[in-house]
Amino acid sequence: MLKIGITGGIGSGKTTVCRVFETLGIPVFYADTSAKEIMVKDEILVKGMKETFGAESYTEAGELNRPYISGLVFNDQRQLDQLNALVHPAVFRAFDNWLSTVPSNAPYILKEAALLFESGSYRMCDRSILVTAPLKLKLERVTGRDHTTEAQVLARMDKQLSDEQKMPMADDHITNDGSESLILQVLALHQKYLDKKF
Ligand code: ATP
Repeated sequence: MLKIGITGGIGSGKTTVCRVFETLGIPVFYADTSAKEIMVKDEILVKGMKETFGAESYTEAGELNRPYISGLVFNDQRQLDQLNALVHPAVFRAFDNWLSTVPSNAPYILKEAALLFESGSYRMCDRSILVTAPLKLKLERVTGRDHTTEAQVLARMDKQLSDEQKMPMADDHITNDGSESLILQVLALHQKYLDKKF
């Protein structure tokens, strides 16, 4: 099964692009959504979280104590590395489970991940797509979508590789700034993957 990783900075529109691929019948694995689910469902991960960050990592009801974990890792690279070392392998496990459920007649699948390059998960994909948009537009989109400020979005962006760093790492590119039709760009890539012309 051909596996295509798809990524882009916060607000670039990678989820929007994935929805277009889904309308073409392409199965999409959303790594960031999966990561949120497995924080409470993956027993190995839950055990590792408690051992590494303490029992207070979870509430009495068994929910992830997000404010506690965010507070620990936000300005502490070592703790962030420890968190990633627990979560990323768990997402890989979830992805493998998900892959086993994909219909065998699917021509290819997409794996959407904000940290495709940073987490190393692009290595498990055959190709990658980077979705880009100008900073101003990304900030407008995210502050329009979420209860957040520009400063908070910029702080989150600072934790990710820049578009300039990711551009040479990606095999294919989608420009989501309104200058070119998103649908035509998706259709061109879809045809390329069907034809395996790369
Ligand atoms: P995040 O990393 O924060 O999850 P993302 O890269 O997945 O962001 P989306 O959620 O797809 O980005 O898009 C961000 C917002 O911008 C959404 O509200 C979406 O509807 C809007 N948006 C994205 N692309 C377009 C577009 N081409 N035209 C209009 N609105 C768009």
